[in-house]
Amino acid sequence: MPSLVSTHTEIQPGNYYEDCAFHPCLCISSDDDEITGVSLVDGSHPRACSIPHCGVRRLTFEEALHWKFFGPLDQTVVKDSRWWYDYPNDEMVETHRL
Ligand SMILES: [Zn+2]
Repeated sequence: MPSLVSTHTEIQPGNYYEDCAFHPCLCISSDDDEITGVSLVDGSHPRACSIPHCGVRRLTFEEALHWKFFGPLDQTVVKDSRWWYDYPNDEMVETHRL
């Protein structure tokens, strides 16, 4: 399971983390209280978070891929904020059916 990042020394550029919107991100910098990265969901950047206040969690590469394609394993994300389709329960199935 992801581990909470408590100081900037615990995460470095090239590592993966979950920001406070639950996006899996590639870290591009971490210093003092701030971590900055690029979202693996949509490429949005900078995804800047406060290390002491945002609850940033470090992800393994495998977790980052799971978050991207299937959503977080252990968090509930409100439906309007989800970036993945919850097949077969999602109503998007109906609109995408041929
Ligand atoms: Zn944040």
